[in-house]
Amino acid sequence: MIYDIGIDLGTTYSCLSIINATGAPIVVKNNMEHDTTPSVISYDNGEFCVGETAKDQAPFAEAVVEAVKRNMSEADTWRVTIGGVEYGPIELSARIIRKLVDDFIEKYPDAELKSATITCPAYFGPKEREATRQAGIIAGFEEVNIIEEPTAAAISYGLKNSGVKNILVYDLGGGTFDVTIMKVDGNRFKVISTDGDCNLGGKDWDAALIGIIKEKVCENGGITMEGLEADEEAITSITTEAEGKKISLSSLKEVKGGVRFGTSTIKYSVTREEFEAETAGELQATIMKVNSALDSAKLTMDDIDDLVLVGGSSRMPQVKAGIIAAFPSCEPKIHIHDPDLAIATGAAIYQNTRDVVMDTDGEAAGAVPDGRIAKFAPSVGSIEIEKVLSHTMGVLVWDEGKNKDVISNIIFRNCTLPIVDTGDYCVHSDGQTGLTIRIYQSEFEDPETGKEVAPEECEEIGHFTVDIPSDSRAGEPVKVSIEATEKADIICTCTFRDITKSHTLSAKGMLSDEQIRNARRSILG
Ligand code: AMP
Repeated sequence: MIYDIGIDLGTTYSCLSIINATGAPIVVKNNMEHDTTPSVISYDNGEFCVGETAKDQAPFAEAVVEAVKRNMSEADTWRVTIGGVEYGPIELSARIIRKLVDDFIEKYPDAELKSATITCPAYFGPKEREATRQAGIIAGFEEVNIIEEPTAAAISYGLKNSGVKNILVYDLGGGTFDVTIMKVDGNRFKVISTDGDCNLGGKDWDAALIGIIKEKVCENGGITMEGLEADEEAITSITTEAEGKKISLSSLKEVKGGVRFGTSTIKYSVTREEFEAETAGELQATIMKVNSALDSAKLTMDDIDDLVLVGGSSRMPQVKAGIIAAFPSCEPKIHIHDPDLAIATGAAIYQNTRDVVMDTDGEAAGAVPDGRIAKFAPSVGSIEIEKVLSHTMGVLVWDEGKNKDVISNIIFRNCTLPIVDTGDYCVHSDGQTGLTIRIYQSEFEDPETGKEVAPEECEEIGHFTVDIPSDSRAGEPVKVSIEATEKADIICTCTFRDITKSHTLSAKGMLSDEQIRNARRSILG
């Protein structure tokens, strides 16, 4: 049996959803009967462990990896040595996906793995998207579709709430924050702008609470911070219990606890007010991103019909209160929508509608070539998603006037995909036999102020060289175009005289086919 599978591969928690026999998206609980699975990997005595057990064992295991998603952007360089073997974020993410899949197969033994939709943050560039796709392939899928988390959340929300609407998705997860504004019209989802911070999420709220608890323990126990930090057991108990205490503070006004220090137990209590005061800066950082997404979309909060809060951390009362304080008129528009599950269920709906072949009159046409038939689709139809470019892209050029290298930007963040534009440049020196095209991405959005920027403010994401004849002359025209496809692949093309060379960025720096096969073998056996 082939199921339509959607996976929310989260920084701190992950979740798998399928479309059930009645056509409804459901979350498949893990083997501990929980909807979400911690994205934690531990290693001990030659064995890998993922999920709740890994989280429990973390303080005692030989090696532990958490928040690996934060390293996806360095998939080609970031490595961790576990049991004498080096692993990158792709192989480790594959283990998290595989854990979700194993638990799913335990419940649905007839399941045959073919394809899945895996979500990623909207600001993930081509490298991170490809890294996520490869993780899915290593975990056992033949084909992996990638969609953005806010889009998945909007699909899950939008299909239940029809009509033409401007939706703002505020997604505060465990490790990342994303804000996306989209126009939803039935099954059409048009992203208007997106912003976010890949280093802002529930983990930062955990860290703030850990700081408060440590200070209280020192104060109440009459001990110094150095003394407390030196007690490994006390620190472990504070850090492992902090997330649970934080979650309790979402429903309680005050939490209490005790920490074993030497032979005594030091009691402490933290009020929600204290916690909120300590984390006001983090909350404000999310509000600033909301403002910048509105600015990019050239909209105000009055133009937004629904403000959809997703991500586990949006359950904190301070989030809704903070948004209302910043935008007082938006209170009736705020919907806290399945915070932990919306992204996975949206991904499953998307995966399902990808399998549907539609007739022109909108009826499902029936079986697709591999024998699948549409379960959820006849009333839903295929989902159309219009995306925007997540980063501004340009190339490194020598600026003769400034006597230094600059980045000349060609396509700009938040443009609707697909997009292609061309920059006019020239050969630098007489007799030059090669042109090296270095492609950079950045956050600059305004084509006026961001046309030419310093390389230090951008990140190189790929390069290629074009061989040119040695009779080339300084000043001869060179055209460089950058195309972002509908699927967000980036293709850079350089043209000199009748020579044209293209370079596709999506696969750059990721694992080779052989590395994927080996990693797959090591996980699947
Ligand atoms: P997600 O990545 O969307 O699964 O969100 C995970 C984050 O949400 C983690 O940091 C959790 O600690 C946090 N979280 C889940 N439930 C709550 C809650 N009720 N109150 C505060 N934070 C929560």
